[in-house]
Amino acid sequence: MHIPRESTTNTASGMAAIAFTGCELLGAAPAQLQARTAAPGKARPQPASRRREVKVGGRRVKTIDVHAHCIIPEAMALLGITRETQRGPGIDQVGPRRIAEMDEQGIDMEALSINPQWYKAERDLVTKVIRIQNERLAEFCATYPDRFVAFASVALQYPDLAVQQLVDGVKRLGLRGAAVGASVAGKEFSDPVFHPFWAKAEELGVLIFIHPQSTPDLAPRLKGNGWLANTIGNPLDTTIALSHLIFEGTLDRFPGLKICSAHGGGYLPSYAPRSDNCLRVAPDMDTGVKLKKKPTEYLRDMYYDTLVFTSEALRHLAAEVGSNRLVIGTDHPIPWQSKSVDHILKTPGFTDKERRMMLGETAAKLLGIKP
Ligand SMILES: [Zn+2]
Repeated sequence: MHIPRESTTNTASGMAAIAFTGCELLGAAPAQLQARTAAPGKARPQPASRRREVKVGGRRVKTIDVHAHCIIPEAMALLGITRETQRGPGIDQVGPRRIAEMDEQGIDMEALSINPQWYKAERDLVTKVIRIQNERLAEFCATYPDRFVAFASVALQYPDLAVQQLVDGVKRLGLRGAAVGASVAGKEFSDPVFHPFWAKAEELGVLIFIHPQSTPDLAPRLKGNGWLANTIGNPLDTTIALSHLIFEGTLDRFPGLKICSAHGGGYLPSYAPRSDNCLRVAPDMDTGVKLKKKPTEYLRDMYYDTLVFTSEALRHLAAEVGSNRLVIGTDHPIPWQSKSVDHILKTPGFTDKERRMMLGETAAKLLGIKP
């Protein structure tokens, strides 16, 4: 993400929207874009690595990682951010090095995203930053259509602009959704100013990838040993974002909205039933929002990556949200987890069908990828 090393989490995350005009469908991409990226007869750089092919029950599965970071140094420079401040070996490369690492891990495709470090930028500047990023992302996808799709970057601090960027990213550039943080310069995603953005994402049917940004308000308490700004700041940030989307009725208002959260949805699925009991214990804390169902039921309407490390954590996450809501998230190239495929293959208790869904089938549907 694009957060300074000292203060936050790991990566550059992206947001995305889904479209069916994506990177795979070169025929739908503008001729100019194709000419810049995939000139006929010109070989694209390829890694020398051997690709690990993942099979379940004897059947090949196309594995898809929804949580993969990259950065565009040219765009970051406009924001005054240097490559050196960004974590992740090779995070500024989308080519042979990255593909070799994917091959080794058994990842067939990545859905690239850029973590939003632009939510405080002025409108003119952020317009330029997002244009560069989304066009570069589209170029990566056009160059390696069988290895990458991408989430558009959007300037959510200007919701009207974010709507335009989402539409442009999806319809013109073939991006598959949008990557967002977990709040926007102090505003929660449940704030009505963001309703037009959620409405557009719902209308387009594209995925929104939520990647937290360290709960910035708690920075003074997250200093010291343990990289707490990331270690607990990130899952907490996601927990707060999802809780507001549930309790303020945003998910009732946009029932078709497709949301995928990084890091297994943070802490929320780990302690979900508390949310079903809070207003019984403290009815005076009910602000009058009438939810259509129990808070925990909304967890089963969203998607989550599997970056929870252990078999027991994955078992519990699946028990709370449903295995059909889980997709691979590696955090590549931040080295949190290099065995995401084995994590899914080796966790006891899942059927072959469930493993295939988690490894790629569910993500393929969400991202408009041919399985
Ligand atoms: Zn990440």
